[in-house]
Amino acid sequence: MKIDILTIFPEFFRGPLDYGIVRRAREAGLAAIEVHDLRAFAHDRHRTVDDRPFGGGEGMVLKPEPIFECIEGLNVQGRAERLGPGATESVVLLSAQGRRFDQRLAEELAELERIVLICGRYEGVDERVGQHLADRELSIGDYVLSGGELGAAVILDTVARLIPGALGNEASARQESFTLTPAVEAGAADSTCASGGLLDYPHYTRPADFRGWQVPEVLVSGNHEEIRRWRRRTALEKTLRNRPDLLDGAALGDEDRKLLARIADQQF
Ligand code: SAH
Repeated sequence: MKIDILTIFPEFFRGPLDYGIVRRAREAGLAAIEVHDLRAFAHDRHRTVDDRPFGGGEGMVLKPEPIFECIEGLNVQGRAERLGPGATESVVLLSAQGRRFDQRLAEELAELERIVLICGRYEGVDERVGQHLADRELSIGDYVLSGGELGAAVILDTVARLIPGALGNEASARQESFTLTPAVEAGAADSTCASGGLLDYPHYTRPADFRGWQVPEVLVSGNHEEIRRWRRRTALEKTLRNRPDLLDGAALGDEDRKLLARIADQQF
């Protein structure tokens, strides 16, 4: 997969690209990530990439020309194709006004051959970039960042770890929080509790006794069926407590519904 990032702060990406799974994916040739400095596409002596807003008001706006020219040099699919059914590439504008990014969208992007991430700054980006160049606007959450770089790093990280081969253990991605693949489909021998859209279950490691806090007895019992049931119940409990909104879209079985009813009884 190819990932291009357009930014006025290319140095920003030194950290996010150089650690862990993203670094390994790059080194293994699974992800080719290129960071482009928008200032290299400015034409004046001061390398100006921003200007005052038409209509007045505070702050500055990123100009369209450097962004269009940079992307035109990247040889990406045309916008109409990117919006069509056979799209293999996507040009994403990071924006607080965008559709909210989530795991499902990350899975969709991970299927593509190439994604281009445009990072805004200041008051934002000239609207014509969103209208005529990008094929989608994405927000990473309901808050305002000072720039699109953190958003691009979030999308990059989330998508890179979904590229086949990027995670050491493929089954682990299918059992994580938010992932909709049901347990049966995940099918791995050790798939004790694929998330089915729930939050992940709690994890523990050695020591079994840490400052007097014991790991749950069931996890050291060796009884796989009991462990599976405990993980499912605690995942349901955590989801009900922290993110009840996720239960509506989750893949729940009969056993889950019984467990949920019992958990709800205990709470009230
Ligand atoms: N005036 C804009 C905010 C501009 S913040 C508004 O009120 O919506 C500057 C840049 O930061 C944006 O152009 C965008 O690229 C980035 N940004 C801010 N919040 C973001 C978010 N929640 N998700 C993704 N990018 C964001």
